[in-house]
Amino acid sequence: MQEGTIDGNDGSAVFKPDAMRFWTITWSGGTVLPLKAYACLSCGLVWTNASTEKLQDFKNKHCQKPEA
Ligand SMILES: [Zn+2]
Repeated sequence: MQEGTIDGNDGSAVFKPDAMRFWTITWSGGTVLPLKAYACLSCGLVWTNASTEKLQDFKNKHCQKPEA
């Protein structure tokens, strides 16, 4: 599991992992999410799906490596 934030103020919604490097430069600011999303009316969970490849790739390029 990766914690992060969903940011969609200036275009497509993106998932921004926590622990992003401060000075990293990204075109999208995160992994772009599909428009379709789902919400659970019982508990309030909201979810969508992103490509695992893109998430991993973004993390490798723009996030700090965990302390060994
Ligand atoms: Zn639920």
